[in-house]
Formats: sequence, C-alpha cells, structure tokens
Amino acid sequence: MKNRKRILITGAAGFLGSHLCDRFITEDYHVIGMDNLITGDLQNIEHLFKLQNFEFHHHDVSTFVYVPGDLDFILHFASPASPIDYLKIPIQTLKVGSLGTHNLLGLARAKKARLLIASTSEVYGDPNINPQPEEYWGNVNPVGPRGVYDEAKRFQEAITMAYHTFHGLETRIVRIFNTYGPRMRLNDGRVLPAFIGEALRGEPLTMFGDGSQTRSFCYVDDLVEGIYRLLHSDYSQPMNIGNPDEITIKEFGEEIIKLTGTGQKLISLPLPQDDPKQRRPDITKAKAILDWEPKVSRSEGLKITLNYFKALTERELIHKDFALFNR
Ligand code: NAD
Ligand code: UDP
Repeated sequence: MKNRKRILITGAAGFLGSHLCDRFITEDYHVIGMDNLITGDLQNIEHLFKLQNFEFHHHDVSTFVYVPGDLDFILHFASPASPIDYLKIPIQTLKVGSLGTHNLLGLARAKKARLLIASTSEVYGDPNINPQPEEYWGNVNPVGPRGVYDEAKRFQEAITMAYHTFHGLETRIVRIFNTYGPRMRLNDGRVLPAFIGEALRGEPLTMFGDGSQTRSFCYVDDLVEGIYRLLHSDYSQPMNIGNPDEITIKEFGEEIIKLTGTGQKLISLPLPQDDPKQRRPDITKAKAILDWEPKVSRSEGLKITLNYFKALTERELIHKDFALFNR
C-alpha cells in the first residue's frame, strides 16, 4: 500500500474545509475529514466518499477526539464562521474555539503532527488602522455580540502559541480575511450569498448601514494555496491570508446587481452592533515568506460563484417541482 501522508481536517463538510479536502486529495494525501455538521453539509464532500484515500468521521471536536493511526498534519477549521451562525449558537462557537482547539493540540502532541489553526481577521475587531498587519493587537469588544467568535479565536491563537512555546509543538496560525466561492451556504447571512440570493430572487439587496464599511474579498482557491504554503513553511507566527483589494459594501452591492443583470435596488437596514468599519489585510509577510499573493480578480471569482449559486437554485427548483409532481 502506498505510504501517503495523513492529514486530519476538522470542519471538513464546511465551505473552506471541503475545498481543503479536495486540495489535499489532489496532492495524494490520505485525508480524514471530521465534522459534526452543525453548519456544514455532506453534499460538499460527497464526491470524496468513493475514494480510498478519504474517510469521514461524524464527531464534535469539542469532545475528546480519537483518530486511529498516524497523523502528519491537522487542519483545525471546525467553527461556525458567519455572524448569523455564531449568534445562533454562541456557546458551541466558544467551545469549538477553546475546548476543540485544546483537544486538537493534545491530539497533535500525541501523534507528533503539525497543527494549523484557522484564525480570522476578527481578531483585529473593529480595527483602528488600515490595512491590518499581523503586529496590530486589535480593537475587540469581548462582551458584544461578536465577542463569542472573536474571543474564541483569540484564545485559540493564545493556547496554540503556548503549546508551541512550552511543548515545542509544530504549529501554524492563519488569519483568514473574508473569503468567498462555491459551497458557501446561500442562507448563511454573509454578505455575498445574501446579495446574490436576493438578486436571484428578484428582491432588493439588504445593505446594512450606509454601506460605507469596507471588506476585502479573497477567492477560495487563492486562500487554499496560501494555507497549503503556510502549512509547509517553517513560519509559526500568525500570518494574514486575504486579498487586499478593498471595496465598500455599497460598491460591492452595485457590482452584484450589475453582474446578475437583475436591475435590483439596494435598501439600507440598521448596521449590526460592532460591525467593523474597515478591513483589509496587509499581506507583506505572505508575499515575502510564502511567495504568495492572490491571483483571482473579484470579477473572475464572482462570475464562478454566481454560476455555482445559479446552478444550485435551479437544482433546488427542480427538486421542488419534482416533490409537487409526486404529491
Ligand atoms: P462553515 O460553517 O462553512 O464550516 C465550518 C464547519 O465546521 C462546518 O462544516 C461545521 O459543521 C463544522 N463544525 C462546527 N463546529 C464543530 C464542532 N464542534 N465539531 C466538528 N465540526 C464542527 O465555515 P467556513 O467559512 O468554512 O469557516 C471555516 C473556518 O475558517 C472557521 O474556523 C472560520 O472561523 C474560519 N474563517 C473563515 C472565513 C471565511 O471567510 N469563510 C474567514 C475567517 C475565518
Ligand atoms: N452585510 C450587509 N448585508 C447583508 C449581510 C452583511 O450589508 O445582508 C454587511 C455587514 O454589515 C458587514 C459586511 O456586509 O459590514 C460583511 O458582512 P459578513 O457577514 O459577510 O462578514 P463580516 O466581515 O462582517 O464578518
């Protein structure tokens, strides 16, 4: 039997986890996906179940994690990630970032595996400087609605660094900025699926506040490449991976309206509490250390993503028609 490297990917049925499974399968790893399906969907990885070098464990990583056999790498991507999700399940979000990370650090230590954790630009909170370099400590409200996510991720970084320093564990920390692409959930509340869903349903696009807040959107393939390089580098400090092409949410809505050709309008709803006013990664380190920078422009990435959502909506409509027909 071939001596493949073995990698555990938590959050495997989610948006990013499923793309990471695909990438490591392509690189000929043995991939062990783990997920409790709280926000994920097995459809994202069902194409992998037939492969010999893929296995799936339905498990909540906030409880003790057992994986038989050797492990070379662990990617910890399990966590609710959209504001809608983590506001609905705040305690599980805190637990997976803290207890879940602790379990995976223990597993990595026992297996002598290298662990990469998925951190986030949210560790910078509502940042006072723009763009955000890794040295910036952030401006976070621990008891605001986003605190359950932001502080779980900050604790996750702290405990990962502690295992690295005190146990000599091989660790990597990626700070991911807003990422988009196929397999996002149409109803996960994040701005891109929200806007595309509204446009496709012929509804007005719901912009929060006056839309002057900014984000910088990275296409998923670029992110996966950055993570792959970081995992195989020898850099153990936090690293930003994201696309520095910054845009206001109003302009972003206008782009989606133009792209979908649906002629919808933008309407303004109240801005949620602690919504960051600006967000843009400083990727100087990723460029210098990983020789990485994003390659996919927003117009290219949005076209691919729109086609995915169109196909998904058509499939769902066909299912609905079929169900009606069979009643
Ligand atoms: P997602 O919700 O699509 O995927 C998360 C997956 O984790 C889901 O499949 C969910 O079922 C699983 N999960 C949650 N809690 C679990 C638990 N206790 N045990 C096992 N599985 C569990 O979200 P995503 O966008 O793919 O995000 C993945 C990771 O990347 C998260 O850690 C998130 O914080 C981080 N991140 C994502 C973005 C982004 O733009 N997508 C930005 C910053 C950070
Ligand atoms: N947003 C919006 N309309 C929506 C969803 C989100 O205007 O239907 C805004 C939100 O207030 C934020 C930005 O879009 O300023 C990005 O929100 P998202 O939830 O995608 O991610 P965040 O970066 O805030 O975690």
